[in-house]
Amino acid sequence: MRTTASSVITRRQLIGGLAGASVAAALAPSVALGRASGSARPAQAPPPRRAPGGGLEVTELAPGVHMIAGAGGNTTVRFGPDHVVAVDSGLPDRAEMLLSAVRALAPDRPATLINTHWHFDHAGGNKAFAEGGFRVLASAKCRQRLAGGGRIDFYQRDIPPGEPRVLPIAGVVGQLELDAGGPITCTAQAPAHTDGDLTLHLRDADVIVMGDTFFNGIYPFIDYSSGASLPGIVAVADAALAQAGAGTKIVPGHGPLADAEALRRYRDMIRDVHDRVAALIDSGASEDQAVAAKPTAAHDQAWARGFFQGEQFTRIAYRTIQAERRGAPAR
Ligand SMILES: [Zn+2]
Repeated sequence: MRTTASSVITRRQLIGGLAGASVAAALAPSVALGRASGSARPAQAPPPRRAPGGGLEVTELAPGVHMIAGAGGNTTVRFGPDHVVAVDSGLPDRAEMLLSAVRALAPDRPATLINTHWHFDHAGGNKAFAEGGFRVLASAKCRQRLAGGGRIDFYQRDIPPGEPRVLPIAGVVGQLELDAGGPITCTAQAPAHTDGDLTLHLRDADVIVMGDTFFNGIYPFIDYSSGASLPGIVAVADAALAQAGAGTKIVPGHGPLADAEALRRYRDMIRDVHDRVAALIDSGASEDQAVAAKPTAAHDQAWARGFFQGEQFTRIAYRTIQAERRGAPAR
């Protein structure tokens, strides 16, 4: 099998002939390199509004690196003279608009789409991107879920199996190094927001892309029906913080561009809510009793400004802890 863009894989040869396979790429731990001098701390924008009806917002993070908001989850684009990589394809009904925005940044060159996870607001545009010539990559678990479909319990939403011709051509296990105008380290994470999250580190640009392991400034959705883990989210945040300097730009799955301090606040909130809800479960509290105990009270003013109020986030945390204790992921 030939791919149009195999030259992008500079190390850890991944692609050739491996359609549909899970690929164990190198497992070397990544190393924090190339930190910026620290003066470019991104501003903390106000909390996001729900799905604006209008256009997309494109922000340049570094030369050749852009964040695009407004198509669902945040999308990151990195391009060089001979390749473009887009991270996440947004909602299906925004896909053409998003694809046009990506192509406007980097027309006429081979292209790769990377999914941070399988949710429809991050992978919903895969069909449009694949038909637009993008080769698709994701973690092995994400690829499995896209292929098999499944139910997102909290939203009572059934996702149909993906069309084979637009599925990721391979599933990343461990770490994968790409190059598109600069190095990109992709890391398939242990269970966190789902069991198939991929994060990216653009070392030379000092940009970290978190996918939905990070919602900046708002309570997150956590997909307990896709094998999520609250301690896993804390661990992914810790790993990112170990690589981040004061000037690192951190792209969350939802919400405005962030910095390490914002991610640290998120990590601390997640850890505190986990500990409080876990203690309620240990004491025998039902889900409704846990909600009544208001374990998120100390955080609601800061975090209940987006998709969820404290009650809903308590229910999500309760169900995530329960599911993880049952060892029950995977549909
Ligand atoms: Zn998600």
